Order: sequence, then structure tokens, then C-alpha cells
Amino acid sequence: MEKFAIIFLFFLVVWPGRAIAGTPDAVTAPPERIAVIGAGIGGAAAAHFLRQYFGHNTQIDVYESGSVGGRLAKTTISGQDHEIGGATIHPLSLHMKEFVQLLGLKELQHPNNLLAVYDGEQFVFEESEWFIVNFVKLIWRYGFDFLRVKMWLENYQHKFMRIYQHQALGYSFTTMEKLLQALGGDKLSKMTKHSIDEALQEIGVSQRFIDEMVGPVIRLTSGEGVNVNAFVGMTSLSETESDLWTVEEGNQMVCSGLLYSAKVSLIKGKVTSIEAKKRPRQDGEVVTSYEVNYLAGPDTGYGMYDIVVVATPLHRGDPEIHFHAFSQPIDVVRGQYQQKVVTLVEGHLNTSFFNYHGAEPFRPTTVATTIHSGNFILGASVSVPIVRGEAPARVWRVLSPEPLGEEGLRHLFRSHTAMHQAQWFAHPRYSPDDRVPPFVLHDHLYHLNAIEWAASTVEMMAIAAKNGALLAHHRWYRQLDKIDQDPLQKLKVEL
Ligand SMILES: Cc1cc2nc3c(=O)[nH]c(=O)nc-3n(C[C@H](O)[C@H](O)[C@H](O)COP(=O)(O)OP(=O)(O)OC[C@H]3O[C@@H](n4cnc5c(N)ncnc54)[C@H](O)[C@@H]3O)c2cc1C
Repeated sequence: MEKFAIIFLFFLVVWPGRAIAGTPDAVTAPPERIAVIGAGIGGAAAAHFLRQYFGHNTQIDVYESGSVGGRLAKTTISGQDHEIGGATIHPLSLHMKEFVQLLGLKELQHPNNLLAVYDGEQFVFEESEWFIVNFVKLIWRYGFDFLRVKMWLENYQHKFMRIYQHQALGYSFTTMEKLLQALGGDKLSKMTKHSIDEALQEIGVSQRFIDEMVGPVIRLTSGEGVNVNAFVGMTSLSETESDLWTVEEGNQMVCSGLLYSAKVSLIKGKVTSIEAKKRPRQDGEVVTSYEVNYLAGPDTGYGMYDIVVVATPLHRGDPEIHFHAFSQPIDVVRGQYQQKVVTLVEGHLNTSFFNYHGAEPFRPTTVATTIHSGNFILGASVSVPIVRGEAPARVWRVLSPEPLGEEGLRHLFRSHTAMHQAQWFAHPRYSPDDRVPPFVLHDHLYHLNAIEWAASTVEMMAIAAKNGALLAHHRWYRQLDKIDQDPLQKLKVEL
């Protein structure tokens, strides 16, 4: 076992360049042109990895119909910049950490939150600054449920973290199912097939803890209930851990930095369709190229590509991108995305709205809500400015399915001096019968956001981007031994 571990470490540390991309076969020329559709974190990270694996002779065009960063965006309120889209990053997000380092950016640590849970009538849990007080409160109300959930979370996080070793060795996966299977066998792959409610009940967690602690956290992070799949549940619960961070000056900086360093051409336009075109290569083999058609203002344009990476959801009810002349229908989930409104408010929270009439000042910095509190708000937390050292004004970040409106603001705040609002199609609308669609849509056509149907976070998109770039590389150069394989199993067999 020890010998096995040493050899594995050798592959990981001493041989990384060789391990990632392998040696391209001598006959296949590199692709001339690659298109990436979408310049959010998925598209930007994909451009970075594609440049790394295919070198500088391949042209990479990135299409973006809105703003670079996509769901990562900042806004200014009361003279300070705040995240208004994807905000916090988990401490174990190794790709994001690597990007930040590579680009010379800085991590900004979040102060630990103090959580209060509102059930529609009162706060059923209020976290203290004192660890021992919280411990006693949790044991008193929920027994050892919080420890059960913590151990469950760590066990699955540990399994999923193997993705970094697999990717460092150059392994890639055509579906999420195969990826999870290679990382943690049936137990991990089952996570996308049953709900967090079922998963926690299986390990003996009480319904009370699920309703009052797990449910509110999931509402706050993904806007849904405990019928989301256990994998979404795991990523949501991870957001309650300490040491969360944000990129100084904005998470979006990673996207613009990666696009710049990958030397891509950014095309400001909305891709409307992708058409498969057969053409004979010099060696006589018939290959497919992809015609990417786009709108840029009133003008239309197109480009021909060897490889296309779609880095935007293809699931928004009405498809925004049409696929033409493919022999098989393109396999995407025609599900819906969940609307989420982020409202940043500089003001004083009206604690009597939550029936809080304590003599002490209200200390919690995050208010989560149970399903019984209705859908007016999903939760609220104190937002931290993204520039180091600025004395923070008290800005609350309120999450709701619908805009709060003037009346809503009056209910929630005793007074406010500034307000800024953004409406997102934030995450898939999860249901227990969800299917995670494949990453490979056609020979050299890939879809990164398939991963969102397992869970949608910044780091998940970075993982999908590296997986997509590896797949594109291996399938182009026909290195099929690094696709859908478990490197640990392979090494064991070879030893
Ligand atoms: C309110 C909110 C809070 C969140 N909180 C967190 C959090 O705290 N932590 C976390 O890890 N994650 C969080 N997330 C999730 C995270 O932000 C997303 O998972 C991630 O940013 C998705 O990145 P992406 O690149 O896949 O997609 P996007 O960011 O959506 O990028 C896709 C890009 O493609 C462009 N595009 C779309 N269609 C076309 C077209 N036809 N042609 C050309 N361009 C096109 C879009 O304009 C967009 O810029 C949050 C998301 C939201 C909305």
C-alpha cells in the first residue's frame, strides 16, 4: 500500500506535465480553431486549460453575449464594491486558488457568520460567538445530529477531492456519473440520484434537524428545499463552513484575467446556432467541423471550428442555441433554471419582522429561513466589501425568488439609504428525477454546464472546465486510455 502511495505521489508531483496531456500522436495536427461559448468562470477556465493543452498555434475564440464573468458580477453600493452574483468560495476550491495565484490576485477571507434560523414565527436557532454555547444549544435541541452531518459531509468531500489527483494525472470523464463512480464508487454516484433528505435520514439524522438546519441552508444557497439531490445538498452545506473567501476586487477578475492570459479573441456576440459540417481532411478522413453562427448587434457572423466548448446553460426552457445538421439529437436537459433575486441594502434590519424583541442587540449576520416561513425571502446575510481594509457599511444581501418591491423593503428594514438589485437565472430548478446530461454532445462538441445538474458552484465550473479541456485534448489526439478510467484501479492492476 505504501509503495502504491509513493508511486502515485510520483505521478502527481514529479511528472505533472507529461501526466496531464500525454504526448500528442505524430499524425494528428493540432486543431486550428476552437470556440468557447460563454465567458463566465466556466468559459474562462476552459480557455485557460485549452491553451495549456493545445499550445499557442491554436486560435481560441470566446463568444460572450453579456458581460465577462456572467453570474460573477460586482456592483457599487454606498461607495463600496460588493459581489452581487456568486459570492463566496469554499476553502477547498483548489482550481480557484490556483487561478488567483497565477493571476497575482488576492483572496479576501470572509469573517465567520453568525447564523439565525427563522421558522415564520420566531428564531428557532441563534448562533453565539462562543463555541461552547453553540455546542450545548445544538446538543440540547438536536442531539448529535450536527456531528452526524459533519462526518457525512467530510466523508463525501474527501471522496470528491480525489478529482484533483485524477485531473492532475490527465484523466477525464464523459459523464458526471462516470466521474463520481471513479472518485467514490456507487456511494458517491448515488448522490445525484437521491435527495439530501433521504441521504441524511439514512444515517439517522432527525427530521427536526433536516427541517430547521439543513433546509434553511439549502434555501439560502440554492433557493430550494431538501428534495434537491444529495450532491447539491453537500455543496450547499459546505457553504456553512469557516474560511470562505472572495477574490479581492471581485470574483469576476478571475474570468477577465484568465481570458487575457490565455490570449483568446473575445467576440462580443450572441451565438444563435451551431451547425455540423462534414469535410474531408488532407489524409482523406471525413471529419466534422462546426459552424458557429452569432448575432452582434444588428449584424450576423459565423466562424468554422474544429472544437466547440459550450460554457453556458443549454437548459433554459426555450433553447437559446439551436443545433443543426447533427445526425443524433443533442442530449441536453430541457429543464428550467431557478430565478433568484439578490438585493443589496444599506440599512437597519427590522428585527421585529422576525418577531425578535430581545433586549440585546441582534448579533447574527446570516438569517436563514425554514420552508414554513413562506417564500417572501430565502435568507439574508451581511455582505462584505470586496476591497481590503475598507470599513464596511452595514450592507445586507437579501435573497428572494421575486423582487422585494418597496413594500417588501419597508417590512424588512427599519430604514435604508441605498439599494441595488440583480435578477438571475441562478441554478437549475432541481427535482428528484433529474438526470445529469453528458459532457460530450458530439465528436468534438462539449457542454460544461451539464455539471450544474449535479451542483452549481464556481469551483464545480472550474472542475468541469478542466475536464472539458482534457476531454477535448484526448479525443482530438485519440488518447482514449485517459477517458472514463479510474487511475487508481489502473495503477493497482499495473503494480
Ligand atoms: C445569486 C447567485 C449566487 C451564487 N452564489 C454562489 C456562491 O456563493 N458560491 C459559488 O461557488 N457559486 C455561487 N453561485 C453559482 C455560480 O455563480 C455559478 O455556478 C457560476 O458562476 C456559473 O458560471 P458559468 O461560467 O458556468 O456560467 P455563467 O456565469 O452563466 O456564464 C455563461 C456566460 O455565457 C454567456 N452566454 C449565454 N448565452 C450565450 C450565447 N448564446 N452566446 C454567447 N454568450 C452567451 C452569458 O452572458 C454568460 O456570461 C451563485 C450564483 C448566483 C446567480
